[in-house]
Amino acid sequence: MTDGQHVQTHLLGREDGDARSIDAVVVGAGFAGVYALYRLRKLGFTVQVFEAGSDIGGTWFHNRYPGARCDIESLDYSYSFDDDLQQEWHWTERYASQPELLRYINHVAERHDLRRDIRTDSRVTSATWDEDAARWLVRTDDGDAVSARFCVLATGVLSVAQVPQIDGLDTFQGEWFHTGDWPNEGVDVSGKRVAVIGTGSSGTQLIPIVAEQAAHLTVFQRTPNFCMPAQNHDMIDEVEREWKAEYPQRRAFARESGFGHNQLSNPKKAKEVSAEERRAEFELRWQLGGLYMMRAFSDILVDPVANEECAEFVRGKIRETVQDPEVAEKLSPRGFYFGTKRLCSGTGYYETFNRENVTLVDVRTAPIERITPTGLATTEAEYDVDVIVFATGFDAMTGSMLKIDIQGAGGEFLREKWAHGPRSYLGVAPAGFPNLFIVAGPGSPSVFSNMVNSIEQHVEWIAALLEQVTLRGLQRVEATPEAEQQWIEHVNEVAERTLYPRSPNSWFFGANTPGKPRVFMPYVGGVGTYRQKADDVAAKDYEGFVLR
Ligand code: NAP
Repeated sequence: MTDGQHVQTHLLGREDGDARSIDAVVVGAGFAGVYALYRLRKLGFTVQVFEAGSDIGGTWFHNRYPGARCDIESLDYSYSFDDDLQQEWHWTERYASQPELLRYINHVAERHDLRRDIRTDSRVTSATWDEDAARWLVRTDDGDAVSARFCVLATGVLSVAQVPQIDGLDTFQGEWFHTGDWPNEGVDVSGKRVAVIGTGSSGTQLIPIVAEQAAHLTVFQRTPNFCMPAQNHDMIDEVEREWKAEYPQRRAFARESGFGHNQLSNPKKAKEVSAEERRAEFELRWQLGGLYMMRAFSDILVDPVANEECAEFVRGKIRETVQDPEVAEKLSPRGFYFGTKRLCSGTGYYETFNRENVTLVDVRTAPIERITPTGLATTEAEYDVDVIVFATGFDAMTGSMLKIDIQGAGGEFLREKWAHGPRSYLGVAPAGFPNLFIVAGPGSPSVFSNMVNSIEQHVEWIAALLEQVTLRGLQRVEATPEAEQQWIEHVNEVAERTLYPRSPNSWFFGANTPGKPRVFMPYVGGVGTYRQKADDVAAKDYEGFVLR
């Protein structure tokens, strides 16, 4: 009998009565799951965290590709719940690299003795609501099972790596990798011919580094995206000192802001100022780097004229940087609004295309037809390579939850409920799924914000609710379908006021995942506004929820 068969037999044989009884189960041990464990333990709960990966860290565990780095400043992209931690921890760079973020999350887990409740290499396969017991029965692929009063899904929004279905991959004689599932031991591409497919945030970070190591790099680009210079640098002592002294105000500012961080937004509309002022502001934002351009004017994501002027400014930068005008044009994004595909932040991205060992292939005009034993074939040419890197993204926002058989009250599965797109109240609680909560999922600011800020807000809000349920001696809390419907309408209404629905070809809409319903998933009303709405719901004794 193979190990897999053994586990399966074990699972089939397991009676519900074998499941350990605990207060809360948390699925996932990234930034969200680790904080949920910390917070729920504070309530005196018994908690079990299941993590599919072989260690904690979530996104920052799996995305180990060369160049992986956060594009929110490290002093912002960090937990605020532990003041000693935020004062003591020293970030070495303006934007933290993946290894540093992984060290950080490991430090937090050690510091608060969290590891003992985290089971790694343990993927949750099903979660079933037992109406009589008012508990979730949660099973894993390694044969574990718990019966929990509450279930918290901290499964991550960009955690299901997606390799496109291209004929012939199984015949490829070289090595291939996905950026979101990068081997722990790294990949040596020195002296090799490498193909990178995909030019989103992951591709644009990885490409310049691979270009320096590989004998030759061929970049297969379908849609060019806007890539801002990260302007990363070593941490400046004075900045760190000042920031730490001002942490209370800075964290408070971030919590009330639009995007959950301290990046300054220009309150002016583009049309309120002269063409010279607009250009100066765009130049300033380019120099500030990263995502600052998104906030150059308050109407960048609302007014098509302002948006196009910003887009053209960036295209001008591409033309200034890339020596071959044909290549510069190929790299210039067109046909969608600036920022409506998640903005990229990279170092030396456009400069890379001036290298002799780098070729750009436009697979919009000549799509990839198949993978051959020795490389890739487009409709126009064949390319022999030793390594293929898929920087092709994720089944975003819902993928990680829908991989689990989650069955709610009345027997409905979450994937049935979400067949036409994700639905939940406040992006936290799907109606019909009592005592189940989602951290930073669709319908909340999530990917539209500093994730750590939004994770803290959600975890704290959920913990406060669970505390109330427990203190009142209640068993069950569930969002009403009416409250859920109103929230969905609000999420859509807010999105309609922006340019996002006019550029629906992005993972924000699930457009990159074959067969996925095209629904705009994040809440774009702003982090501060969202927090206020969630707090109002709590203040009105959890309006829109039934507690019993
Ligand atoms: P992504 O943004 O979805 O980009 C995937 C890329 O692969 C796109 O260029 C896409 O082209 C291309 N692609 C997909 N399937 C293809 C196919 N069959 N043939 C050719 N090209 C194909 O994925 P990502 O770059 O991994 O980034 C995902 C998100 O993770 C980001 O948007 C960001 O939120 C987050 N992230 C953040 C950071 C950071 O903090 N700096 C770094 C990495 C990722 P199309 O556009 O034509 O579909």
